[in-house]
Amino acid sequence: MNPNDYKQTKLELTEGDYRVLEVIGDFVPDNVFDAHAHLNPPGGLSNEQQTYETYREWMGPLLGNPSNIRLNALAEVTGPRATSIEGRREINEYLCDQLVKAPNCVGSAFFGPEETEEQIAEMLSRPRMVGIKCYATTTTNPNRNAVAIGDFLSEAQWTVANQLKRPICLHMMRPKALSDPDNLAYIQKMTARYPDAKLVLAHCARGFAGWNTIEAIDKIAHIDNVWYDISAICEVGTIASTIMRTAGKKVMWGSDFPVCKYRGCSLSMGDSFLWITGATYATLEPTLEEKGLKPCLYTLQTMLAFKQTATLLNLDRTQVEDIFYNNAMNLYGLKD
Ligand SMILES: [Zn+2]
Repeated sequence: MNPNDYKQTKLELTEGDYRVLEVIGDFVPDNVFDAHAHLNPPGGLSNEQQTYETYREWMGPLLGNPSNIRLNALAEVTGPRATSIEGRREINEYLCDQLVKAPNCVGSAFFGPEETEEQIAEMLSRPRMVGIKCYATTTTNPNRNAVAIGDFLSEAQWTVANQLKRPICLHMMRPKALSDPDNLAYIQKMTARYPDAKLVLAHCARGFAGWNTIEAIDKIAHIDNVWYDISAICEVGTIASTIMRTAGKKVMWGSDFPVCKYRGCSLSMGDSFLWITGATYATLEPTLEEKGLKPCLYTLQTMLAFKQTATLLNLDRTQVEDIFYNNAMNLYGLKD
């Protein structure tokens, strides 16, 4: 990979980014399917708009300019629009427009507990709107740490996903994530009740605190309709646990775009986790940049973790290509 290719990104790169890009080298295949990329409409929290084109401009060079980039484009899940049925409809209509302009992509529409089966089925009848995205911003519970999955992933969403054999992308809440007994029991119960729905556990089952996934994954790894995306995970053990327990066939790469604009990483700390951030979030005082430290782009940190995992597990090229592309093609029912 020629460093001049990286320079085509519209993101500002540091010396540290270049060094990590050199380590990543040609790890990323020429076919990439990003199973977790948000395309947010204008007027959201960051007041920025994402399209397939902005994805290609920002991410393409970081991925080594693959000739084929497909997305599972997720709806916006934060900001004031997320909390009402009308707002979510607006978000989903924007996503429908984006899918028309990006015929190699699929999308996942955003629903809360209020949408009816008819409303969900109508949205999933739109061209290439293949999946469901749910998120805790749709609940009225102000304490996110207490939110149960069933508070925002409704029976109606499961029913339609099951009827249409579609995926549901779930970012679960609660500090212990997959190791939370209620979360675990819920996943076991609902995947059995709706065997044709495909449950994708985002962020390695929200394994930002790695032990929560590693400890509990054996209890669900045998379930046919459970999948994982590795988006936003910066730690080898967490990624490795999903690959090792599914023979690498149920795991998909994802970027959590547009998080590629931020710097830092997420680290397990005891049984919890910590976001180490650059000045963009400025949650640490003094910021890392004020200390003369500039973390590399978050996206590069996650790619580095995946490459380390692949190296340690001796994944061959086919297995790496499965995680970057083929597994998502299977899940979303696509053929080249
Ligand atoms: Zn996300």
